[in-house]
Amino acid sequence: MYIYELLAQSERIDIQFIQLDKTLREMAAVLCKHNIGSLLVINDQEDLIGILSERDLVRAVNNFPRDVADRLISEIMTRSVITCCGDDDVVETLDVMNRNGIRHIPVVENKRPIAVLSIREFDFVCKSLQTIARTDELTGLPNRRHFMESLESELSRYGRFQSPFCVAMFDIDKFKPINDTYGHNAGDQVLRALAQILTGELRAYDTVGRLGGEEFGIIFPNTVLTGAIKACDHVANAFRAGKVVTDKGLIRFTVSFGVTEVDSEVPDCTTILKQADKYLYEAKAAGRDRTVAGPLVTSTIETAGSPKEPLSVIQT
Ligand code: GH3
Ligand code: MG
Ligand code: MG
Repeated sequence: MYIYELLAQSERIDIQFIQLDKTLREMAAVLCKHNIGSLLVINDQEDLIGILSERDLVRAVNNFPRDVADRLISEIMTRSVITCCGDDDVVETLDVMNRNGIRHIPVVENKRPIAVLSIREFDFVCKSLQTIARTDELTGLPNRRHFMESLESELSRYGRFQSPFCVAMFDIDKFKPINDTYGHNAGDQVLRALAQILTGELRAYDTVGRLGGEEFGIIFPNTVLTGAIKACDHVANAFRAGKVVTDKGLIRFTVSFGVTEVDSEVPDCTTILKQADKYLYEAKAAGRDRTVAGPLVTSTIETAGSPKEPLSVIQT
């Protein structure tokens, strides 16, 4: 995102100037009058030579206990001004501000300041950019990256508290024929409806994510395998009852689940997902529309030659 886009979004970009030979009293008066946080300092030729903020004023009060109001603003200007322009990148500019400890930055075009942006405006935009980067556009669910971050935190929580948790992966059954029969748009509508049903059915502290295509993940914190199987069963029933009304007619769908429980030290999230995926594959092979759940068979156990069998194949 570019600075000019941020400017277009910002509600109020007030810009006020003050000359170098004015006093701090005059500076305070302009800040108060316009209810703004900073002023651009210009010389007689109207060149931009600095920027002063409320913080500089507060620092001056501290540094000059006597007659502070009559001091000249030239006395508190410390360094040359850092500016940006419309074509600069927002994230890079924020980085420059953070590295230099500045909270306001003038935007300069053709050597003339056209606005002053505060760090609050940057923070807001960066947070929304982060949210966009972690959200799946079609369904509004957390995307794979976000899901993996949640799984990482859950795994590190397990490392501290040893409270078991479960991870499920599920995939829409025969989704390709749905697309082929009703069209890609109708397929998209199914994905959106699925996301809505899913969020409505799960507990607030369960985390879901679209892992890709028509494949999704769920993290069930503080849950043992039997609890996660019940929850998946519940979700599967809601999907089965869900009717997706499209302009091409009513579409029904089912899904297959693979679920595993983390109840021992695990090296990484990939191992957990691989295991859930393995059970999901078994659910597909066993005829779809069902859940296969089982323990996490880590490679250490496998090399010891004692992989455990899946706990159950459950017809949902
Ligand atoms: P299975 O029961 O084995 O999972 O069969 P399937 O047909 O669901 O599996 P397959 O992997 O062959 O097909 C997945 C389909 O999902 C193919 C792909 O075009 C479709 N798909 C992936 N992402 C999207 C999307 O965002 N929108 C739509 N409409 N379709 C998608
Ligand atoms: Mg599928
Ligand atoms: Mg698939």
